[in-house]
Amino acid sequence: MNGGEKGQDQLKWQCERCRCDLVTGPVTVTYMGNRFTTDLPHCPSCGMVLISEEIALGKMAQVEQMLEDK
Ligand SMILES: [Zn+2]
Repeated sequence: MNGGEKGQDQLKWQCERCRCDLVTGPVTVTYMGNRFTTDLPHCPSCGMVLISEEIALGKMAQVEQMLEDK
């Protein structure tokens, strides 16, 4: 493993299919049977959404709270 990276270049993700830069914006995803819209990096060309483990854990925690608050 190559540790030491601090993950500051999150905004340089690229779509593996199109080779275009991902943009961060509202996308609709489905989680635990609930559809919701949240800001995630996605490909403006093919619509591929990147959900890293880190993002997933943070966002999903937020979403679960949102759902519980309803
Ligand atoms: Zn793409």
